[in-house]
Amino acid sequence: MIKNSVKFNPKKCIVIFDFDNTIATCDVFDNMLLLFSCDDRWVELEKRWKSGRIGSKTCLEGQLRGMDLNKRSLDAYLPKIKLDPYFKPIYKLLQSKKVKALVLSDNFDYIINQILKINKIKGLRVLANKLSFSRAKVVTDYPFKNKDCQICAHCKTKNLLEKSPKDALIIYVGDGSGDICPAKRAHIVFAKDNLLRYFKEHKLDFMAFHNLKEVYTYLKRKLI
Ligand SMILES: [Mg+2]
Ligand SMILES: [Zn+2]
Repeated sequence: MIKNSVKFNPKKCIVIFDFDNTIATCDVFDNMLLLFSCDDRWVELEKRWKSGRIGSKTCLEGQLRGMDLNKRSLDAYLPKIKLDPYFKPIYKLLQSKKVKALVLSDNFDYIINQILKINKIKGLRVLANKLSFSRAKVVTDYPFKNKDCQICAHCKTKNLLEKSPKDALIIYVGDGSGDICPAKRAHIVFAKDNLLRYFKEHKLDFMAFHNLKEVYTYLKRKLI
């Protein structure tokens, strides 16, 4: 773990955020299951995914197929999503210090970008699964699927390594099982929920967070 007194050179840092339950205060896709699913087949898919019997791509695709979803209903839902109140202050801090920031998510780009736009957050780079509309129908694509990984639809580790400058100090903020693998490649990890449990069990270094205020306070203190 990095010593308390050490300060960070902003030019050498990158802060990587998960989206659901990290930047957003809920899991946006999980809420969509409750709102838009035509029946309860999604429950079985969710169980199979949680027990590792299916990967998240199979799970997401099956759950999307079971939803009565179009652009209009999705656009009406997204303004209801609340962001962690400290996300904007963190993003402003990072921008003012010229620190790179990146969102890696196993949700869909359209959903995240719309939510960021609604919350007036501009210029934040998001890498996620693809969702678009053809006539009002949902079309998906998974450009960051790793054929060697059966777990994630967007396998975050590859993007973390590719998008982080060489020698960068990588700070990772996340909560889910899909964050475990990329967080292990980071130098500083903020964790809650599943990610926290895993890091705790495996005696890896991390800092617990409940909301982004803790991350904000830390970065404000650490960035020169
Ligand atoms: Mg998450
Ligand atoms: Zn993976």
